[in-house]
Amino acid sequence: MKLAELGEFGLIDNIAARVPAHPSVRVGIGDDAAALLPSPGSLTLITSDMLLEGVHFDLSFGDPQSLGRKSLAVNLSDLAAMGAQPRHFLLSLALPAGTSVEFVEGFVSGVLEMAARHGAVLVGGDTCASRGGVAISITALGEQVPEKVLKRSGARPGDAVFVTGTVGDAAAGLELLFRGEREGRLVAKQLDPQPRVAAGVALAEAGLAHAMIDVSDGVLADLGHVCELSRVGALVDLALLPLSGEYRSHCTGADPFALALSGGEDYELLFSAPRDREAEIAQLMERHGVPVTRIGEIREGSGIDVVAPDGKSYLPKARGFNHFA
Ligand code: ADP
Ligand code: MG
Repeated sequence: MKLAELGEFGLIDNIAARVPAHPSVRVGIGDDAAALLPSPGSLTLITSDMLLEGVHFDLSFGDPQSLGRKSLAVNLSDLAAMGAQPRHFLLSLALPAGTSVEFVEGFVSGVLEMAARHGAVLVGGDTCASRGGVAISITALGEQVPEKVLKRSGARPGDAVFVTGTVGDAAAGLELLFRGEREGRLVAKQLDPQPRVAAGVALAEAGLAHAMIDVSDGVLADLGHVCELSRVGALVDLALLPLSGEYRSHCTGADPFALALSGGEDYELLFSAPRDREAEIAQLMERHGVPVTRIGEIREGSGIDVVAPDGKSYLPKARGFNHFA
């Protein structure tokens, strides 16, 4: 069956029927606006991310479920980067009338699966017919008490810089997808990223980090955002960069670090913290089953210096993803 037969309201009813009730949602899908009860004493953190067919995804690369999971994951990653616990989200869709109901149901299943995993509840959205491709926009709301919220602007000279997981895998996965590959860990990291929600919230609540960001545009670009807003510089040591075995086998060319530094979409957390708290950070992340690696330090000044494993200064060719560049 095509969406043209089900119609806008049939689709919204289908979605609404699949959303579990939650005590914080006083009015959910179905009315003109949702009514939400905030946790006392918490700030609301709100973020929005758009995913466009042909710009952010290719429908032939993966299944609708993983597209659904990723659409919410990128928003939850932004909340995690502020140390916020996800609570609610809005889902807006523009879909060509010829889209199959099966596709949309798979997509919504993926969205709701990611939501359930991290305690986020769907409370509304908007649905329109598209004359172009598929467009997905999610706005997610999270909460954290004011003193625990982590911003990009808190890095201080002398801090160490840490990153969770490994970097470069998603960008390597995208290269493989363009070559026709559809399986393996690198491809999965591109199509089905796992936001570091519990780790981000735990770091914030433990008060261990000074500044945090999620790695969506690449390590250098995202560390660059932290440096600019914190009015500091940084040093990154390539010998310390956490690279997966799969990444190392894929990136064997002249510059094996290029994708790890400038490729995007890893959705790992990058944060600065006092160097003497490294052991506590390692312990906390281990409790969450999340690997964490120190990759450099924050310095006075501006800009990022990168040191190659041979000790020489490394000049990156690209600086990360920029939509209008
Ligand atoms: P209005 O015309 O008043 O904007 P809509 O007809 O767009 O209302 O939406 C009706 C209800 O369905 C609203 O509560 C809206 O939040 C919800 N809704 C619409 N599209 C979606 C969607 N894709 N996912 C979840 N809820 C949706
Ligand atoms: Mg509307």
